Amino acid sequence: MAEDDLVPIGRVAEWFGMRVPALRYYEDEGLLTTRRRNGRRHFDRDDLRRLALVRTYVEGGVLSLDEVRELTSAEPSTGARLLAARHLPALEEHSFSASSALRLLRHHVEHDQPDQLSCPRCAEELRERLVRFTRRRRDT
Ligand SMILES: [Zn+2]
Repeated sequence: MAEDDLVPIGRVAEWFGMRVPALRYYEDEGLLTTRRRNGRRHFDRDDLRRLALVRTYVEGGVLSLDEVRELTSAEPSTGARLLAARHLPALEEHSFSASSALRLLRHHVEHDQPDQLSCPRCAEELRERLVRFTRRRRDT
């Protein structure tokens, strides 16, 4: 898209796999900005970049919408960096879990192994997961 192109909200919703009311809600909640053309909401490149940032944090799965708003604000508070730092361990853990789930699921799909618990490769992955789960329980 060209620098000054405006994308209608319906197209943006399609691109991001979201519903238009959800995008309006984000705007009402101060999570993103849009511009009006003929009274209808459109996104310019900066609006799209901000939405990409917001969705990335939301899909990261550990931040509340209030926290995402603070982190993605045009004028972040001094606490925003501290907030980010506080969430790094949880996000890292979430990322490990998602990667592990991806490996297990991919192996399950690619190999015709109905019982994952008796698959040697999956067993190895699960052994590591078990260690992580039990360690996490001890640490909290
Ligand atoms: Zn397997």
